[in-house]
Amino acid sequence: MSITNNLQNVLQELPTGVRLVAVSKFHPNKAIEEAYRAGHRVFGESRAQELRAKHESLPKDIEWHFIGTLQTNKIKYIIPYVSLIHGIDSFHLLSEVNKQAAKVGRTVNCLLQLHIAQEETKSGFSFDECKEMLQCGEWKELTHIRLCGLMGMATYTDSHEQITHEFRSLSNFFTEVKSSWFATEPTFCELSMGMSDDYKLAIHEKSTMVRIGSKIFGAREY
Ligand SMILES: *Cc1c(COP(=O)(O)O)cnc(C)c1O
Repeated sequence: MSITNNLQNVLQELPTGVRLVAVSKFHPNKAIEEAYRAGHRVFGESRAQELRAKHESLPKDIEWHFIGTLQTNKIKYIIPYVSLIHGIDSFHLLSEVNKQAAKVGRTVNCLLQLHIAQEETKSGFSFDECKEMLQCGEWKELTHIRLCGLMGMATYTDSHEQITHEFRSLSNFFTEVKSSWFATEPTFCELSMGMSDDYKLAIHEKSTMVRIGSKIFGAREY
């Protein structure tokens, strides 16, 4: 199967209102160009330098999403053009993004990442930490970031029951956060959850954005 076919198969399965971030990390420009020629414009990367190099060499109408762990010293590489940062996992990181965004006169869209998996290796706020951060209210002074929603990754497991449970807990939390802090903010509307192996379950739990890599581009070499 070609990238074009894979992409079309995935797109056909997405209900209207669910957006696809094609995760192109570790894949060469050639692969992205094929998806681009098939009409896709939204790509996700997880390393700042890789994203910068791809942004410089690929068409400028690509919407780049940063989906990985963002180190504060690398924020500056992506801030001038990134359209959504999915993995904000601390107030400190949010304020660093704000600082770099202010320098270039941008307001950068961000998602807060929640730790929903039963795996220590995945990062993110706990539900309580996230509520504390929002309740504290200091984030409202960060005028160069815009909180657009939440993101999470489920445990890597065969148990559909567990994955569904984790996605549902994030989906319920999203509803709670939206009504408590963002009821009058239509831009707080994204729930980024679902990858190649679990996006159907995520959509069922009201995901608005799926991040799919290997199902489109094939296996990655790390
Ligand atoms: C790599 C990655 C994906 C895509 O994973 P696939 O299993 O290849 O679809 C999605 N989200 C994040 C945060 C990732 O790091």
